[in-house]
Amino acid sequence: MSALPKTMRAVVYRGAKDLRVETLPVPRIGASELLVKVAACGVCPTDIKKIEYGTVPPPRVFGHETAGTIVRVGARVRGFRAGERVALHHHVPCLDCHFCRHHAFAQCATYKRTGITAGFEPAGGGYAEYVRVLPFALPGVVKIPAKNSFEEGAMLEPVNTVLKAVRRLALQRGDVVLVAGQGPIGLMFTRLLQLEGAQVLATDLLNSRLKLARKFGARFTQNASRAKLSTHNSQLSTLVSRVTKHRGLDAAIIAVPSDAVALEAQSLLRGGGQLMLFAHTKRGDAFTLDPASVCVDEKDLLGSYSADFTLQREVARLVFSRKLDVRPLITHRFPLEKTADAIALASRPTEDSLKIVVSQD
Ligand SMILES: [Zn+2]
Ligand SMILES: [Zn+2]
Repeated sequence: MSALPKTMRAVVYRGAKDLRVETLPVPRIGASELLVKVAACGVCPTDIKKIEYGTVPPPRVFGHETAGTIVRVGARVRGFRAGERVALHHHVPCLDCHFCRHHAFAQCATYKRTGITAGFEPAGGGYAEYVRVLPFALPGVVKIPAKNSFEEGAMLEPVNTVLKAVRRLALQRGDVVLVAGQGPIGLMFTRLLQLEGAQVLATDLLNSRLKLARKFGARFTQNASRAKLSTHNSQLSTLVSRVTKHRGLDAAIIAVPSDAVALEAQSLLRGGGQLMLFAHTKRGDAFTLDPASVCVDEKDLLGSYSADFTLQREVARLVFSRKLDVRPLITHRFPLEKTADAIALASRPTEDSLKIVVSQD
């Protein structure tokens, strides 16, 4: 076993919009824990929000889409060896409580605890050189096959959140599903829905993303330029009418935090169709919805947040077999010291930016 350094670099959140590169002790692990040297960590919108608005108390080390190499294994841990390449999962449910029995893992108290840390209050820790995997997070550790990269491993968590949302829908083969927003998450939706046999209608403001959406399996694409959003005879409604023979969408997934987009999509659903909110994570907003569209038209309003632990194997198979090839989604890599720049770019995407990764590989 090679000697470990005593200290490491970590990007510490010290308050709203305040990230600092600091030197921290390398975490010490207990007998039922792992120490992992981080190789790649995806930049995730939920972390960006916490950093921008300072919604949680500092100090913390964020970063939860993490993959790396095991460097220390606690004496009581079975099934893992130093040197193995792994993807980590920071939230693992107890599988035993009232919420877990109802398959509402994201509401489980154990699940809400973060099981990976680089120090301070556990917050993922992926923006550091080493992370400690706490005992209750061990069942979420997935080995990365030799042919796959650390970056592919780091994408398991976001892909899981997307597959979970897809599984909440009652889709049949051939159904027409709108995916509004073709950022990394929207593109994952497009591909997974296509694999489930749906015909995906993808929208975005950027043509570069629509082009990629085609590659990810979108059957139809439409540039949703803002001007046309509010009008009822938008190009989108014309397209929906045409491809569904005036019936309306079977489902719509809103992967952008826009109320206008959500409301337009809801109006384009067929009776009994489903609206899935996936990006409305900021609390305190309100929009007006005609309740009769839910009661009389039987349009379901659904949300999905975070991952489903029981889907992890299936997610690993999809990503590692490259049936869902996540590699084209990763457009930018930043070194650890430049994490703040990585987050700035992720929060203001450009024409050619999709998933951004902090890389130490
Ligand atoms: Zn994430
Ligand atoms: Zn539970």
